[in-house]
Amino acid sequence: MGKAARLDRSAAAELRTRLLDWYYRNRRDLPWRRGPDPYSIWVSEIMLQQTRVATVIDHYRAFLRRFPTLASLAKAREEDVLAEWSGLGYYRRARMLHKAAQFVADHLEGKLPATAEGLRALPGIGAYTAAAIASIAHGEAVAVVDGNVERVLCRLSGWELGSRAGGAALKRQIDALAGQLVDPVRPGDFNQAMMELGATVCLPRNPQCLICPIAGECKTRGEHKKPLRPRMLSREVGYALSVRMRRQPGSHGREVLLEQRPATVTVMPGLWELPALAEANVPEGELRMTVRHAIMQVNYYVRIRTVFEDDVPALTAPAGERRWVPLAEAGGMALTGLTRKVLTRAHLLARAPLDAITPQREPEMV
Ligand code: SF4
Repeated sequence: MGKAARLDRSAAAELRTRLLDWYYRNRRDLPWRRGPDPYSIWVSEIMLQQTRVATVIDHYRAFLRRFPTLASLAKAREEDVLAEWSGLGYYRRARMLHKAAQFVADHLEGKLPATAEGLRALPGIGAYTAAAIASIAHGEAVAVVDGNVERVLCRLSGWELGSRAGGAALKRQIDALAGQLVDPVRPGDFNQAMMELGATVCLPRNPQCLICPIAGECKTRGEHKKPLRPRMLSREVGYALSVRMRRQPGSHGREVLLEQRPATVTVMPGLWELPALAEANVPEGELRMTVRHAIMQVNYYVRIRTVFEDDVPALTAPAGERRWVPLAEAGGMALTGLTRKVLTRAHLLARAPLDAITPQREPEMV
């Protein structure tokens, strides 16, 4: 296929048929595929942005148990929504989901728009999510183009993905081809089939071309050219892990010292984390663990030091409100991904029952 070429009608029809047949025989049984409820499809699509399917499944079920309808989400306090989102990361998604639910409840009589165009007008819903909801829940023939679909279409067409020169033009070509291919009768299934193919067969590395249902139309049949990834930077930081026995009369168990990030910071405002050490360079004898934590292009090498309560003031640098939190409740709070990772690796974390979540100060919206 040349750069500007399109599949002819019969080739496109053949590709749709083979892809859909494959999808109906091979699709994974995922909880958000059980019905056409626009609200639950919306929640799943937002969770699946930047988070792996295996991680999303349990969070999706718990989130819908806690907020089963758009109305229940709209009525919830933001701190409870963030707490339920904890473990998925990228909390801005949860804030935007919550805001959009409130907008729909207040201005649209609680009903999500049925078209991709109407959905795109809502805060936090971009072209991808709007197309997913409109095609899956309402049968609108619009194409969903995520990273997986881009990869499949580039390989199918022999295009080089992500070259800086002509990146926008290539994106337009990909969108045009996706729009041409989407099945007019079963657009929701077709879109899910394309995403499923990208997620399970046309993998970024080691694509399974020998079992691919559209290999007959594919120009590349293997990995395609793409630009080299930017080099990762590395940084060293340190955090204090301070645990004490509970002080309240008649109470049992242990508490961990957590600090709330100020509502005014741009990164993860209002989330709870371990207090930062004043000095990241932890003496070898005091080192509890080192955790690698990647954010964007930076690998953080995080040194965790066990700090006794009396030593906290001298060894840490306060940046926000601190609180001793019972370990049984910490899991239900809106923790940063790094703090959740550290507490989990230290075998300190238990997910709190939903009604036992520590009251928190309302974080500011971003
Ligand atoms: S034949 Fe291979 S490269 Fe082409 S779409 Fe299928 S899995 Fe991807």
